[in-house]
Amino acid sequence: MTLLDPTWAALLYLVAAVCFILALRGLAAPKTARRGNLIGAFGALVAVVTVFLSTELDNVPWILGAIAVGALVAAPVSRRVKMTQMPQLVAVFNGVGGGAAALVALLELAHNDDPWVRLAIVFALLVGAISFAGSAITFAKLQELMTTRPVLFPGLPVVMGLVVVLAIAGAAVTIATGSTGYALVLLAIGLAAGVLLVLPVGGADVPIVISLLNAFTGLAVAASGLVLDNVLLVVAGTLVGASGTILTQAMAAAMGRGVTGILFGAFRGGSTAGSTTQSERPVRSSSPEDVAVLLGYAQRVIVVPGYGLAVAQGQHTLVELATTLEARGTEVVYAIHPVAGRMPGHMNVLLAEANVPYESLKEMADVNPEFKTTDVVLVVGANDVVNPAAKTSPGSPIYGMPILEAGDARQVVFLKRSMRPGFAGIENELLYEPQTTLLFGDAKDSLGKVLAAVKAL
Ligand code: NDP
Repeated sequence: MTLLDPTWAALLYLVAAVCFILALRGLAAPKTARRGNLIGAFGALVAVVTVFLSTELDNVPWILGAIAVGALVAAPVSRRVKMTQMPQLVAVFNGVGGGAAALVALLELAHNDDPWVRLAIVFALLVGAISFAGSAITFAKLQELMTTRPVLFPGLPVVMGLVVVLAIAGAAVTIATGSTGYALVLLAIGLAAGVLLVLPVGGADVPIVISLLNAFTGLAVAASGLVLDNVLLVVAGTLVGASGTILTQAMAAAMGRGVTGILFGAFRGGSTAGSTTQSERPVRSSSPEDVAVLLGYAQRVIVVPGYGLAVAQGQHTLVELATTLEARGTEVVYAIHPVAGRMPGHMNVLLAEANVPYESLKEMADVNPEFKTTDVVLVVGANDVVNPAAKTSPGSPIYGMPILEAGDARQVVFLKRSMRPGFAGIENELLYEPQTTLLFGDAKDSLGKVLAAVKAL
């Protein structure tokens, strides 16, 4: 006996599905993202409650216990995680989702003898396992528990080929026999495939792979929805699969690469991590007072924020500096590169935290023609996104990536701590150009000093 009949359950699932679609719509723009997230969470709550009210469940205390443990672990972790660690967190959540889909598939095998359902089971098992193991490796790379460079060993392509053949054979045997023993072997093959898929990917590309694995998890969940005859799981999984695929492609395009290049580029010798080079050539460095004079008497300033701004947590000081300059009559805009920082939308989120109005954020295509008529570009903790090597050095790991053309401006000021390169690990010629000045130091400290000096002008 259940509290809700199937019609009501279907109706509530529809409500949840609509919430998920509205959530994705909301997440498409920074202004509505927070609301979108809440709508999605509400949809998930409706879905979970509906399952409890409309299904005869066994082991309810165990299920409630698992939910409690999950919530007790996830809530504080999500609250405490730093913005720069968000990709790792997404990797963990994503991996857990893939692992759950694989476990559901494994348990359902014993109850199903229809070959089509078994096909869906085998798909969820394999893809879920790949996503789980791949996400674990991406987490280890991003958390620097292991090297962030591509990991290659002789014969890796052969091993990968072998794993693919074994996966196909294992899937066929599992569908034919319905044996849990074979399914466990298939699970192990999926885990191995996940590890092998991510090991050769270099650090800078890892967040793109997370997005790809996210799409895999979505597909695995959709397949487990087919197995459990649950329409909502099919809808939610497909939404995740489709949006993850679109995000993967958008991120790859913003970095000027193809998805296959990211996954298999290291085999061709084109390491996706690049090399760390530091030359001894002289650069022009200056004091906070010099930078204050440049900014204070400029008509137009473009700020290019990057990963270092997030590390320094200097966004509030940056905004105070911009407001002070605006009060003096200087026009200030922010140029946002799509892969500035370490995750899509990183800079938008960071600047929104400091209440920068969205109208002041300019996308790369819109702002690039404006650099020519700009007095000063203030590059705060950014490097690769303004590196001209993307245009001039074929063979460079970032060659082909669209960049912010900061070098076109009259003056360029870099706020960074040292001459160390950015994430791609390559030298930035713009640092040595005659119009470039460097103010060394932590971005927040430097911004504070420049702000004080501007106020004193
Ligand atoms: P970069 O990694 O190129 O450069 C960051 C700069 O910040 C470094 O030069 C570093 O120099 C400086 N820095 C670090 N900490 C501080 C600090 N506390 N104070 C001042 N400066 C600091 O970042 P960008 O944002 O320019 O580029 C992003 C990179 O990440 C690109 O290569 C992109 O491809 C990659 N990426 C981005 C993804 C995304 O979705 N956004 C996903 C995957 C990769 P120093 O150490 O000398 O201070």
